[in-house]
Formats: sequence, structure tokens, C-alpha cells
Amino acid sequence: MHRDKGCYPEDSKVYLVGSGIASLASATYLIKDAGVSGENIYILEQDAIPGGALDGAGDPENGYIIRGGRMHEEHFVCYWDLLSNIPSYDDQNISVKDESFEFSSRFVSHAQARLLKGGKKIDLTSFGLSVKDQADLMRLTFASEKSLNNIRIEDWFKREFFETNYWLLWTTMFAFQKWSSVAVMRRYMKRFIHLLDGMPRLGGIMRTKYNQYHSVVMPLKRYLLERGVHFDMHTQVVDIDFTHTDDKITATALHVIDKKGKGMDIPLGESDYVFITNGSITDSTDHGSWAKAPVLKDKSTSGSWMLWENIAKKDKIFGAPGVFSDNIDLQKWYSYTATLRDSTFHDYMENFSGNLDGTGGLVTMTDSNWLMSIVIARQPHFPDQPKDVKVFWGYGLYPDREGNHVKKKMSECNGEEILEELWYHLKIQDLMKPIVASGKVNCIPIAMPFIDSLFMPCAKGDRPHVLPEGSVNFAFLGQFAEVADDCVFTVEYSVRCAQTAVYGLFDCGKDVLPIYDSIHSPKVLITAMKAISR
Ligand SMILES: Cc1cc2nc3c(=O)[nH]c(=O)nc-3n(C[C@H](O)[C@H](O)[C@H](O)COP(=O)(O)OP(=O)(O)OC[C@H]3O[C@@H](n4cnc5c(N)ncnc54)[C@H](O)[C@@H]3O)c2cc1C
Repeated sequence: MHRDKGCYPEDSKVYLVGSGIASLASATYLIKDAGVSGENIYILEQDAIPGGALDGAGDPENGYIIRGGRMHEEHFVCYWDLLSNIPSYDDQNISVKDESFEFSSRFVSHAQARLLKGGKKIDLTSFGLSVKDQADLMRLTFASEKSLNNIRIEDWFKREFFETNYWLLWTTMFAFQKWSSVAVMRRYMKRFIHLLDGMPRLGGIMRTKYNQYHSVVMPLKRYLLERGVHFDMHTQVVDIDFTHTDDKITATALHVIDKKGKGMDIPLGESDYVFITNGSITDSTDHGSWAKAPVLKDKSTSGSWMLWENIAKKDKIFGAPGVFSDNIDLQKWYSYTATLRDSTFHDYMENFSGNLDGTGGLVTMTDSNWLMSIVIARQPHFPDQPKDVKVFWGYGLYPDREGNHVKKKMSECNGEEILEELWYHLKIQDLMKPIVASGKVNCIPIAMPFIDSLFMPCAKGDRPHVLPEGSVNFAFLGQFAEVADDCVFTVEYSVRCAQTAVYGLFDCGKDVLPIYDSIHSPKVLITAMKAISR
């Protein structure tokens, strides 16, 4: 459908619901490419700090916290395009993109202890796929997406597939579950097929210098503040009014609860816009502590799911939030961040794995009931992290199971108990005992009820399009907006939404950058076929 694009960007006010990378990217492109004045852009965020899923908080005394760390790759074209204009956290003369590329070229990802069993490295020369598994994988890669509506991964593959090295690598690298959408798995297969050969070593994975709050969010925030963008924190958008005329839909007002807890309405003028991040995988997360397990919260504390539910009632083109968020037991997993005033653990891991910190990526304990993995990022992972303080992150994909050593569900464990289970799997209980006893170790567990909601099996239309048919002045952004062919659970997906929204609603003379298309390269295909059959 033809869409009239904004002709008077200088008169437009744009409201961005949420301050995740999707909104920060939209604000950047609105200023840079659409000609909207920064002073007319309002970021409305329910939390105290911007960034959404891209977090990095805490301090050396009380312990650092990250809900997760991002793996990137060279062909995150939209993401790197965005960050090529943004001065880095440490150096105004270097862009975040250049800093990340330079950093990743010095600390090259080549995991040498990706999967462990009984505390020992598993040989990953072979993915362990049978001929039937290989055929199923290829059949999936070349299936049509529309034939895969509501199908789970476990519906597609035989039971034996889930015992292979291939599945263990896959499930723990991307946090897919057996019950996740096979359509999303297919997109991953196609989108990242050039990385398949190197998957056991995490080859081609790129990282930012620090955690993504400091390396990505803070530079973007600084860039936007310098251009006058408003960050209205503690501001929750609870509903949006729309009017339907002929075949057009126009957003007319936002209903907001402001930082004082007061309800207010923001009317949208004729040339005003609203971009909505609908749904968030990190909403309703809760932090525990060394002595306390986190609490598993639900939708009632989540601005994004509540807002999406409210507007989805108004028109079916706004999607079906319940498909993604109504079954927390299938969507949740738990992560944790450990802060150590001692280098014993990091020294041990460097020796054991053969990886310098920042080059190993994930290490997974395949015989752990919780399916525990850890990542040791390059130190320091926080700009203010003292030399004698070390940090690592970990997660467990099955928090409802009892531990092998700690006879409790992971979801019931505090930070101390989670680390006890980890030491057990690595066979370093005796090594770590005195260090823990000396009080030099902290660990903060985190419950994430919606973290895998984006992988839930779904059908066409459950995610609203970034620009739904007839949309005059609004767009959906983020992991629950529909973008053809790209992969959710990536920052690239969110930035692609931002480009799609801005270039679709404003006359920028620019097109959304095409997705890197390695699936049509015969060389890549042959290498991938060889990899799955070895
Ligand atoms: C543990 C973990 C590991 C990950 N690993 C990777 C990885 O390896 N590689 C990769 O590329 N990506 C990874 N991701 C995914 C990536 O970080 C996210 O997909 C991306 O950051 C999402 O950005 P977003 O802006 O779309 O949404 P979010 O970051 O979810 O931002 C949404 C924001 O909007 C706010 N908000 C929503 N609704 C409202 C409302 N009604 N009113 C006010 N505010 C509202 C929320 O508070 C939030 O701040 C990971 C994420 C996690 C959590």
C-alpha cells in the first residue's frame, strides 16, 4: 500500500515508547536521516535508566550485574551502521563500531572448551548428526516459512537429534528450547549459515569492549542528549488511542503514568508520530543476591506486555501478545553475574580452557541438570572495574530442575548456591572453598520470566508488522514486531525495525540495508554441508 511520508519533519514530534536499542536507533535515524529535530523527540521509559535489555550495572563492592552479554557478527549491517556514527564511551574520536571491530580483532573468538562433560572438554570435531538429522536440518533450511506456523523444534526432529553435539551447541549458544519455534530456527540456519562451520569455536563472533550498557547505550544516550532528545524516565505508557478512517489508522493520544504516579494524556497532533516497542524480553526481571533467590514476577509488573495487550484488543493487526507471554514456564530462564576480588577462578579457567579471557565465549556443562553455561568476557568488563576484581556471567536453561549437587531448583537458589553448583561441575570445589570463605566472592542471580518469549511458536500475524497496513503515524519496534527474514534475539533485529520505521514513515531517500545473504553463496553452502556431515 502507498504510504504518505512525513513531509514536514521539522514540525513533527515523535514519541518513542521505551528506551531499548530499537528506540535509541530510531531517535538517531530520525535526527540523522529524517530531519526531525532532537528537541521534538521524546523517549518515554518506565525504568530509571535507558537501554532495556542492554544493561550493565552495579559496582565492585556490591557486585556487578548483567542480565546477558551480546554476541555480534560482522554482518549485523544495521547495528554497525547505527554505531558507525556514535563516538565510543572512552574516545570521542573513535566510533563504537570501529572500537568494537578493533577490539574483536585483538580478542578473537576461538572457544577451546565449548562443551564439557564430567568436567572435561568434549571433542567437537563432529557435530554427531546422523544422516537423518542432516536431512531434517537441510529440509528445514529450505522449507517455506508459512508451512511452519506454530510448529516446535521437537515436532520437526527425531528424539536422537537432541542428544547431538550440534543441538547442545545450538541450544546453549542461542538459548533455544526444544519447544521453541522451528520457523525461528530456520531463519537462524539461513541467516547465519556462514558461521556454521565455526560454531564449535564460536568463530566469527564479535564483542564490544565493555558490557553493552557502557559500550553501546551510554554513547547513544550521550549522542542523543547532545542533540536535545528528551529522556522521560519513570514514565509508563499504558494505552494508546487510534482512529480508523477508510483504510487508514492513526494514533491520536498516549495515556501515560508519569514519574509522580499521575495519569496524563499526550495528544498527538497531525504531524506527530509514536513508535512502540511492544513486548520486552527483560520486562519483570528480578535480582536476587548472594543470600537470596530472585522472585519470578509476571506481566502485572511489565509496562510493555500490558501496553501491547491493551492495544491488541483494538485491532487484530496489532498482533497477539498472549502467544508470546502467556506461558512463563516455557519462556523463563535464569542468569547470574559473579564478581570476585580474586583471580583464582579466572586463572584456573584460562589454564583449563586454553582461552584468554574474552576469547572463549560460552563454556557449557552438558551434564548439568540446569544446563549451566558461563561466559568470561575480556576484563575489565566495566569501565570502573578495578584490576584485582574479576567478573563472569552465566545462565541455566532449565531453572525448574533440581541441581546435580545442590538439591534445589535453580530458581530457588541464591547466588552462593548457584556458584556451589558451578564449582561442582568444574570439579573445583576445593580450590574455590577458601576464596568463598574469605568473603571475596559475590554472585547476583536474575529471574527473567519473558526471556525466551520471542522464540515461542507462532503464526503469521501474531507479530504486528513494523508498519501495519494503513498505519499513518505509528510503528512497532523490537523483538515482537515482524521483519521478514531477520532473526529475533539479536540487536540487529531491533535496529532493522528502527530503519524500517523511520525510512517507511519519513522521506529520507534511503532504503533499509539488505540482510547479508550468505545462503545463496555456493561456497558457503558447500562448507556448511561439509560441516554438518563431519
Ligand atoms: C540474556 C540476554 C542475552 C542476549 N544475547 C544476545 C546476543 O548474544 N546477541 C544479540 O544480538 N542480542 C542478544 N540479546 C537480545 C538483545 O539484547 C535484545 O533483543 C535487544 O536489546 C532488544 O532491544 P529492544 O529495544 O527491541 O527492546 P528492550 O531492550 O526490551 O527495550 C524495551 C524498553 O522499552 C521499555 N518499555 C516497554 N514498554 C514500555 C511502556 N509501555 N512504557 C514505558 N517503557 C516501556 C522497557 O522498559 C525497555 O527499556 C540478548 C538479550 C538478553 C536479555
